[in-house]
This record gives sequence, C-alpha cells and structure tokens, in this order.
Amino acid sequence: MEEFCNLKDKLKGISERIRNAAESCGRNPESIRLVAVSKIVSADKVREAIDAGVTILGENYIREAGEKISALSDCRVSWHFIGHLQTNKAKYAVKLFDLIHTADSLKLAIELNRQAAKINKIQNILIQVNIGEEESKSGISVQDLQTLLREIGRLDNLSVKGLMTIPPFYDEPEKVRPFFSALRELRDQIKRAAIPNISMDELSMGMSGDFETAIAEGATLVRIGTAIFGERTL
Ligand SMILES: *Cc1c(COP(=O)(O)O)cnc(C)c1O
Repeated sequence: MEEFCNLKDKLKGISERIRNAAESCGRNPESIRLVAVSKIVSADKVREAIDAGVTILGENYIREAGEKISALSDCRVSWHFIGHLQTNKAKYAVKLFDLIHTADSLKLAIELNRQAAKINKIQNILIQVNIGEEESKSGISVQDLQTLLREIGRLDNLSVKGLMTIPPFYDEPEKVRPFFSALRELRDQIKRAAIPNISMDELSMGMSGDFETAIAEGATLVRIGTAIFGERTL
C-alpha cells in the first residue's frame, strides 16, 4: 500500500512538472501526453499506475510487452512501442501497439505495412531520427529522412504522425536542448515540404532527466520511466 501511495505521488508530481513546463513557455499542457515507460516493471505495478491515472504505456521488448498487455487486457489504455524493432518482430508489434515510435528504415516500414494490411489495420508510426548522428544509435539520418518519408507516404497501411529521437546522453538537460530544438526544426521543415500522406504533429522526445527541456522545445510525447517507477534494476 505504501508503494501505491508512492507511485500516486510520483505521478502527481510528474503531471505538475509537465503542466508547469508547458505553461512557462506558453503551451497548452493538454498538448503534451505522458508515456509511462514500463519496461521491466511488473504487470501489477503497471496496474497501479493505470489506477492512478496513467493512460499510455511505453514498452521496449516485444515478448515482455505481449505478456503484460494480455495480463492487463481489461484496462482501457494505449500501448506504445519505444524499443528497437527488428523486422522479424514487426508482426507482433503491429498486433500489440497503437503507436510505434521507432520506425527507422524502409525495410522495416514495408514489413510493418504488410503486417498491418494482413489484419486490416492502419498502423500509426513515428520516424526515429538519429539527431546526434551517433554511430551507436538507431534512427534514420537527417539527410535521408525526406526520401524515407516520401517512400513511406506511398504505403497504404501506415500513417506517419511525427518524429522521435533519443539524443546523446548528457547529465545536464541544457546540453541536450540543441538536439531537441534540431528535431523541432526538422519537423517544421518537413511540414513545409508537405509530403503526401505524411502528418507531422507529434514530437516524441524527453525522458526522466530532461523532459521539461523537451517540452520547452516542443515535445508532444514525453517518455518517462525512472521518475515514475524508480530505478530499473536487472
Ligand atoms: C527506457 C526509455 C525511456 C525512459 O527513460 P527514463 O530515463 O527511465 O525516464 C525513454 N525512452 C526510451 C526509448 C527508453 O528506452
């Protein structure tokens, strides 16, 4: 029970911080949605979070997510995939998730489209951009983004909603800010290009350590794990 109160308080604190960050830059707090990142968190604990008001869960691993989603099938929540997605898991991702944040290649998009068509679904996706141009990170390069979007725009069963990024890691949010603003500028540039069948309203950026900065730079989806559920220990 103590843990439950704890979780409730943490969520309340996060919601307040989201609202304050939005208001202090003149944004409507309603335009920012919290994705509670529940990787490695048990279904029971996720249920507590849902009871405390969480409406979107973010998961990184297909198998873990599948088990959790069926254990919580009575809950009216939305599940987002935020992990690295292998093409051979596309089938499961399409069955399980309302929004996939991490589409980053034509090969993966074609497979997602094929699997979505099979179950008569229009799959919502974001395109993951490697905004820091890091060797170790997934995501399409800034340079290749427009070409990818033009190709994905032709796929009938995918609906692109915006961009996602995982910027280089820094302890100080101020050091991450330029990457967040770069993603926003990229989004605006693509909006102006008006690519057929591509919408660009969502910006998925910001985690526990830097979500307020991300909101100041235009985030519409913040992905927060540790600040809600505590440190992940494996
Ligand atoms: C784990 C994870 C998060 C949450 O990170 P925290 O620092 O725990 O808030 C956000 N986004 C992605 C892609 C993640 O894998």
